[in-house]
Amino acid sequence: MRVPLVAGNWKMYKTVAEAVDYARRLKSSGSPAGVELAVCPPFTALLAVGRELAGSQVGLGAQDMHWAEEGAYTGEVSPLMLKELGCRYVILGHSERRQHFGESDEAVNAKVKAALRHGLVPIVCVGETLAEREAGRAREVVAGQLRGSLAGLAAQEAGNVVVAYEPVWAIGTGRTALPEDAQEMSAFIRALLAEMFGREVAGKVRIQYGGSVKPENAAGILRQPDIDGALVGGASLQVESFLAIARAAAK
Ligand code: PEP
Repeated sequence: MRVPLVAGNWKMYKTVAEAVDYARRLKSSGSPAGVELAVCPPFTALLAVGRELAGSQVGLGAQDMHWAEEGAYTGEVSPLMLKELGCRYVILGHSERRQHFGESDEAVNAKVKAALRHGLVPIVCVGETLAEREAGRAREVVAGQLRGSLAGLAAQEAGNVVVAYEPVWAIGTGRTALPEDAQEMSAFIRALLAEMFGREVAGKVRIQYGGSVKPENAAGILRQPDIDGALVGGASLQVESFLAIARAAAK
């Protein structure tokens, strides 16, 4: 049985003071049973949020990382550094990184491998643009990203990955995929994982949906059989809406 994971991607929001205040309120609210929660603050707030959440069930995640352990990579953060801060998760290949920073499937693949080597759980984002969907290429695009991002993993490693299906046209736009469309793509992703790593692994991998998930639309999406939680951007920035989504995910 897959425990749903609801992860908050804070993007480039919240100062350290704001992040600590959020973490304090989240911890004191307590997590709903039957769902795993994680927050992914900006790098600057990871240490403080991790300290605040210590002893709680809420996992800490980063929004990106480099694949190397150390080196002359100005501005980058390594898997070792994230581990030291207590991170359990790392979001990789988010569409904003692919779009604005030219991140390729090859780079995502190197990062996924590095994350697994260091005991971090990668949340690997895949998803098509509106133009790709309208051209009838959504499955082809998602399949290419998934194959590229997970290339060369052993089946046993692949079982530890979380996949986030995030149609680009739904991120931050207020436009959500219909529950049946999100389910259809998630089932397609699971079938692809079965082809790549076997049915047992595919049955273990958690597939999140992401894209304008809010308390009002969460239940319809999260009750789909192949959707195991959500990657939440905007609605994760308030404790109340994040927890409302978490409650909708609890199976
Ligand atoms: C995201 O950033 O991964 C995301 C899904 O954002 P939003 O919920 O704001 O659409």
